[in-house]
Amino acid sequence: SLGKTRCVYIPDDLEYDTSLFLVPSCYKDDLKSLIICEGLIKDRIRKLAREIHESVGDQPLVMLCVLKGSYRFFTALVDELTITRADLTCSTPLTVDFVRAMSYEDTETTGKVQLVGLSNLEEVRGQNILVVDDIIDSGLTLSRIIHTIKELGAAKIWTCLMLSKRVKRRIENQEDFVAFNIPDKFIVGYGLDYNQKFRDLNHICVMSPTGIAKYKS
Ligand code: 5GP
Repeated sequence: SLGKTRCVYIPDDLEYDTSLFLVPSCYKDDLKSLIICEGLIKDRIRKLAREIHESVGDQPLVMLCVLKGSYRFFTALVDELTITRADLTCSTPLTVDFVRAMSYEDTETTGKVQLVGLSNLEEVRGQNILVVDDIIDSGLTLSRIIHTIKELGAAKIWTCLMLSKRVKRRIENQEDFVAFNIPDKFIVGYGLDYNQKFRDLNHICVMSPTGIAKYKS
């Protein structure tokens, strides 16, 4: 599915004034613009869940959340997929697992990806795994995760990404289900942070230089 995944394309020049939406007032000056509002994310997730179900079918599925940035996307996706599977009377369970990946410092990827917390390594063996990540940039994080769960003996692996950044990948990965294709800008919100701030912002926004300076580590 390399590069062929259909998704919502967010153009370079699409930028809404943040004052047209509800954003925490503490972040008012830290954001330059809003590029994806919560409603659009929710609707897109609803459709993605159907597409995932059509591909996976009625078989046991482990949804693997790549913490922390994916937590909101993940829970919304689990909820939608659960409803879809119940509506279509699936006879197999959907389970969840969590892994933490860390690579960013300020707005730069460090090039090294640290994975922690895949507690029950044995639970990956022989399973169908859907890796759910917030955003793909260089591709290093996703490639590390896929490599690790392959080594642990996963049966089938799919990936689901909320955001795919329009940058040249350092490593190409399978991008099976993608919600949005976005410009090469540093974004925050809907679970994505900048030095742990902005996860409590409901919409996906571009940071302002003021915000980047203010919360630098
Ligand atoms: P990659 O390994 O593909 O270069 O980067 C993936 C990880 O970097 C993501 O899981 C995310 O944590 C972080 N990341 C990449 N781009 C952005 C961005 O624009 N904003 C934020 N907040 N994190 C990003």
